[in-house]
Amino acid sequence: MNKKNKVKTNKKITRKAPIKNKRMVVECQRIDDAGRGIVEIYDQEVPVPNLLAGERAIIEVIKKPQHLTAKVVKIKKSAPGRVKPKCHLAADCGGCQLQHMSAAMQQELKENAVKKLLGKYGPVNEIITMDEPYDYRNKIHSTFTYGQGGKIISGMYEQHSHWVLPVERCYIQDPVADQIIATIRSLMVKLRIKPFNEDTGEGFMRHVLIRTGQQSRQIMVVLVASSTEFPQRNNFISALLKKHSEINTIVLNINNSKTNLVLGQEQQVLYGEGFIQDTLCGCVFQISAKSFYQVNPIQAEKLYRKVIEMADFKGTEVVLDAYSGIGTIALIISSHVSRVIGVELSRTAVKDAIKNAKLNQIENVRFYRGDAGSTMLEMAKARKSIDTVILDPPRSGCDERFLTAIQELKPQKVIYISCNPVTQARDIAVLVKGGYQVGEIQPLDMFPQTHHIEVVVELQRNEYMK
Ligand code: SAH
Repeated sequence: MNKKNKVKTNKKITRKAPIKNKRMVVECQRIDDAGRGIVEIYDQEVPVPNLLAGERAIIEVIKKPQHLTAKVVKIKKSAPGRVKPKCHLAADCGGCQLQHMSAAMQQELKENAVKKLLGKYGPVNEIITMDEPYDYRNKIHSTFTYGQGGKIISGMYEQHSHWVLPVERCYIQDPVADQIIATIRSLMVKLRIKPFNEDTGEGFMRHVLIRTGQQSRQIMVVLVASSTEFPQRNNFISALLKKHSEINTIVLNINNSKTNLVLGQEQQVLYGEGFIQDTLCGCVFQISAKSFYQVNPIQAEKLYRKVIEMADFKGTEVVLDAYSGIGTIALIISSHVSRVIGVELSRTAVKDAIKNAKLNQIENVRFYRGDAGSTMLEMAKARKSIDTVILDPPRSGCDERFLTAIQELKPQKVIYISCNPVTQARDIAVLVKGGYQVGEIQPLDMFPQTHHIEVVVELQRNEYMK
């Protein structure tokens, strides 16, 4: 090893020298809840993706404006539990953080994270896992840009950066999507359609979003572009359909603003009906481009079954499904209860939900568009009687209005589903203070290979608070 590349062990490194791109050998003692190795360098705890407790590795320090991070250059001593990722981009890509961990290790990591946040309320059930934890995502997103030598590439953003990594095969997505994306890339070359450049605002094709029906095998392709002026539009559409007759609908979405959001407001249906259908727990669902739909339908079915088990319905209940999306939970539980009221903010999702009730000939469910908290406060004012509230909010959790409204509506049972146990624990602390007691706590692996966790928690109103 020459002098320039010489590396030091972390135990000796304390001086505040120029540290950007510095290489060193580190010993990792522990991992954090997101599955990153934590090493101590420059008197700081620095998170290192793709590094396990008990491992020794050469890392390269990366200096960010607010903090330090690092990437693994070479593992010198690996720990039991490390597995070879299926994907050769796993260490660089921001999509999967845990592909280098065995299934058992991923489970333990997620269970421990939930225990830390919610364990004080009672035992945490063993995580519900997936038998085949690959190829599960039904919503696939890829970004177009120019790669080396001016070649059009598409893929995922590199971890902590805005560089696109070229992805030919993503192992957590429905494989049919990779083939469609490859066809889109080659059609762009053939028809001289340029990828959009975020910095200059030039070019046309920005992203593609593909939705697949896991049971129906229906496919929606959403082309996200900078304008409605689609060069070679008819040639593009007919060539894409010729190669992939399995596509049911193609939508053009316009997004020309500087944003991290994939989809813009404006949309045109170019082919088909603008939505696909899929089946979940025996109900059929219409899904539009912009509506939320669980990305892992195999695990979503297990989640909804668990919700029904926890709710222990007698058949007489009036249930509120808050943050109801396209109505999946409301419709799936409808045959177990007297009535369901769904509340959802997104206009397109509510439209889908109303259509879905009709599709399944379900008549004891009503959907309302509005903020869940405000709508529930109005219901409390009108002295509406609700037996069970099932809520499934976005990652940010629910707001004060919602938590106040629950305490005024006083449902007997609350079932809280979340994809972010941090905000879930924050909200549950408020509910526990307000007279609820935590029952079952069930983590579920909705997003294998990634650090994301889904948790469903049952809460009962305390007897003396009734
Ligand atoms: N329960 C559904 C959807 C859950 S995703 C399912 O399992 O499929 C969360 C949903 O909350 C999204 O559809 C989003 O549009 C909606 N949402 C976000 N903020 C909201 C608010 N303040 N009030 C009501 N709904 C909201």
